[in-house]
Amino acid sequence: MRLFDEHVILRFALLITSFLFAALIPDILEHSDNGVVVVPYIFCILFLDYLAVFYRFPSSVAQKKMRSDVNVNEVVLEPIRNYERDLIEKDRLFQMMIDVSSEGFWTFDVSSDKVFWSNKVGKILGIEMLGDSFDVVKSCVLESDWESFRKSLQACLNEKRNFTIRMRLLNKKAGCEEIVISGRPQCNEAGLLIRVIGSLSAIQDSHNLVRENDFLSTCDSLTGVSNRQEFLNELAKDVEKAAGRPDYIFAIALLDIDSFAAINDSYSIDVGDQVLRIVADRISASSRAGDCIARIGPDVFALIFRDIQGDVNGELISIVRNLHSKVKMPLKLEGKELYISVSMSVVVNKDGDCVEDLLANANAVLRDMKKGGNHGGVQFFTGGIREKAMNLYRLEFDIRRAIQAREFILMYQPIVDIVDGDRIVGFEALVRWNNSERGIISPGEFIPIAEETGLIVPMGAQILRMACEQTKIWVDMGYENIQVSVNFSAKQFALDNMVEDVRRILQETRLNPKNLKLEITEYTALCESEKTIEMMRALASMGLQISIDDFGTGYSSLSYLKRFPVNTLKMDKSFVDHVTDDEEDASFARMVIGIANSMNLGLIAEGVETRDQLDFLRSEGCRFIQGFYFSKPLNSEAALAYLRRHYSADTSSSQVSMAFQMP
Ligand code: C2E
Ligand code: MG
Ligand code: MG
Repeated sequence: MRLFDEHVILRFALLITSFLFAALIPDILEHSDNGVVVVPYIFCILFLDYLAVFYRFPSSVAQKKMRSDVNVNEVVLEPIRNYERDLIEKDRLFQMMIDVSSEGFWTFDVSSDKVFWSNKVGKILGIEMLGDSFDVVKSCVLESDWESFRKSLQACLNEKRNFTIRMRLLNKKAGCEEIVISGRPQCNEAGLLIRVIGSLSAIQDSHNLVRENDFLSTCDSLTGVSNRQEFLNELAKDVEKAAGRPDYIFAIALLDIDSFAAINDSYSIDVGDQVLRIVADRISASSRAGDCIARIGPDVFALIFRDIQGDVNGELISIVRNLHSKVKMPLKLEGKELYISVSMSVVVNKDGDCVEDLLANANAVLRDMKKGGNHGGVQFFTGGIREKAMNLYRLEFDIRRAIQAREFILMYQPIVDIVDGDRIVGFEALVRWNNSERGIISPGEFIPIAEETGLIVPMGAQILRMACEQTKIWVDMGYENIQVSVNFSAKQFALDNMVEDVRRILQETRLNPKNLKLEITEYTALCESEKTIEMMRALASMGLQISIDDFGTGYSSLSYLKRFPVNTLKMDKSFVDHVTDDEEDASFARMVIGIANSMNLGLIAEGVETRDQLDFLRSEGCRFIQGFYFSKPLNSEAALAYLRRHYSADTSSSQVSMAFQMP
């Protein structure tokens, strides 16, 4: 602060000067002859006095500008506003830096005991809800690492020491395996600790980047669990460990989603993918830390339960049961409730099995379950299954070889019209395996394996060609209206080019499609996807007929009958068996006959063996019969002999023209 204004000093100097000039006036008068010279001198003094008292001196440039242009409020507030703007801008910049940084930041406020985490921390840890304490770190890292962190933080608070510590994450899905966390104490002017400021980052050295790439190449991109290769690698490690340490026991499990193709077909691939993701999450949530989880097939998950202790079966059974019951819970997708069935096989490694043995055993259990109709359950591997598994493998190999060697032959079982003189209207082509060692093998022994392994596709094509070739021979011999039914499996219907394959075989064998009928089971019809319906319509438009085999065994709604271009129903043998001695079966048979008649569909009763059964069916209005009562399946020569005896060219009673026409 200044004591005197510069103008006051100037005015004071002018007054002094004017007094000095005034003091000189007597001397001037004394030495001059003429007193007139004093007059300008006096004016000069008066002018100086005027300046000293009245004149308003111009001020300095800055003061002048301040006084003239700016009002006082602005002078005071503007710098404050600039300062605030600056602060906001800096804060925004800081936030941006935090966001773009590959590191996460945190602050711990000593007075409130609360932690603030930047968003990046959540991304690094793979967690959404971070909360306002260090609990989130505790839940993510190994217990021993958490202990070290806790001690370092305590030292930071007590002794105001910086710290940096490495910690290993429990959840490898977070994208990294280790993090580094640093903290620095911050004190106020009085030296009191007010907060700790810190960072948290994934370890990203070159070694870690390699590991990250490894992670991507070992995980299943759809579900995030390990992929098949990684599972095999991990399993090999466990096998090796068990070889060196007899007390080390582990188990593997396979989880197979039953009828997964039907989910994809009935809903969409997208829904199928969501189901797989949910199943993977459920498995991860119900398995123990350290267990390996992988997706090793489109709808098959695999697990390694490591280091099973104590009572192996006791501990393992409860883990497995819990996991299975969680996984198969109904799902809510697109607002609909979806039920899934999951079959699970478990194999405990006890006998020094290799990777292949373990997987083969687990697969054998799954097959055994499916073959035995035990879908959706849990089954443990036992020695017996191992033998069975070996047989199954041998069988699969043999079927493959038999297809190449064309060992499959067809038998033909007559279908008879009982209303019109027991005339033959057609045959059902039934496959047999003419095995060089075992002789004739029935389809019950190999069709389920062929279905499961997909071998039914090449085998089915071979069967269809054989049936068409044989039928063409009979047609050319004059049995023009004969119709041969060929069994078609669901797997064959799943093929994209199925319709084209059938068309090609018909063309190549030059068989009229009216002489061919495809038998599909109720189960295939039940997987009623748009694709199946489209295929059936395409087949029907070619002039082929379609039969629903084993009708009545699917416990299904009958709505599909309206949607499908079906011509004939085949009442399953299990109902025919007891029509004469079980009132329930008799009523069921009546009901099936009623359905077929009311929907104008042809009806064939299968497995008719006795006169009583035949009489019952005839009296209830069933016209077509297939069964041992008329004939067992016959080879082609015997079938021709049967044709010769029982065929009538009269089209009025022919299967083609009447009962099997499109409704
Ligand atoms: P399916 O299609 O229901 O065939 C009828 C089965 O009942 C045949 O058994 C036939 O021999 C048998 N059967 C007919 N009448 C009688 C009878 O009066 N008494 C008794 N006890 N059995 C009778 P098969 O030939 O052993 O075939 C069994 C199943 O194997 C067939 O049931 C079918 O599902 C499947 N199959 C047979 N051939 C083929 C084929 O070429 N392709 C496909 N995908 N499956 C086939
Ligand atoms: Mg059949
Ligand atoms: Mg049948």
